[in-house]
Amino acid sequence: MLSIASLTHVYPNGTRALDGVSLEIPPGLYGLLGPNGAGKSTLMRCLATLQVPTSGAIRFADIDVLAEPQRLRAKLGYLPQDFGVYPRVSAYEMLDHLAVLKGLVAAGPRRETVEALLNQVNLWDVRKKAIAGFSGGMRQRFGIAQAMIGNPTLMIVDEPTAGLDPEERNRFNNLLAEVGETKVVILSTHIVEDVADLCSRMAILVDGRIVSAGTPGALIDGL
Ligand code: ADP
Ligand code: ADP
Repeated sequence: MLSIASLTHVYPNGTRALDGVSLEIPPGLYGLLGPNGAGKSTLMRCLATLQVPTSGAIRFADIDVLAEPQRLRAKLGYLPQDFGVYPRVSAYEMLDHLAVLKGLVAAGPRRETVEALLNQVNLWDVRKKAIAGFSGGMRQRFGIAQAMIGNPTLMIVDEPTAGLDPEERNRFNNLLAEVGETKVVILSTHIVEDVADLCSRMAILVDGRIVSAGTPGALIDGL
């Protein structure tokens, strides 16, 4: 379980992006709903150990995340809101390369891992194509494959369906639901339906503060 206590982040220019955020996040899909500028990306970056918050604490299982970020990184998959791709590299080549960087050096197991991921995210048929030519939905599904190398137990997924058409959004959400069966997954979004369709628990973030937390059934009816 992931536990966030009194997390506050103030940027150097004085913007208070997070203001005393506390959350208990159980296994499965957890939705973080909030409008643009609410602080979602800041919170996601703090959880992904890419931003050190001004104050507060984060624990994942027995890991004190702010004190030992490298231990969390070994268990972490992160899909940032805008991730860059190398334009001419194919999906297969990129996953293979990332697998080596993650320590999957032996060719046989690495091939099995990469092939299984390409199948799971439904990109097997385009594995030899350059990622730069992918549609938005294909790119996001590739992002999930990328984040899942190394079999993380915590997945941080930031605004993944922004800009996707309804069919691609559906496809992406089905994939995320499958991933959520075996991991702690935090999904940030400004789309109410994403949370309603997918998440068993959720919180609403506005101006850096949690205004409510609970089940989508209880919270979304009240919106
Ligand atoms: P989001 O869509 O999550 O709100 P933004 O478009 O606000 O993201 O931010 C995109 C990038 O610009 C991020 O890296 C963010 O940290 C940075 N950024 C956003 N607002 C500011 C700001 N007021 N000053 C400096 N950098 C900012
Ligand atoms: P969200 O992801 O919900 O859109 P963000 O975490 O991107 O929210 O931003 C929260 C607030 O912090 C916004 O007011 C944004 O402009 C500001 N912000 C984000 N990144 C930076 C930054 N690097 N420097 C200063 N302000 C920032």
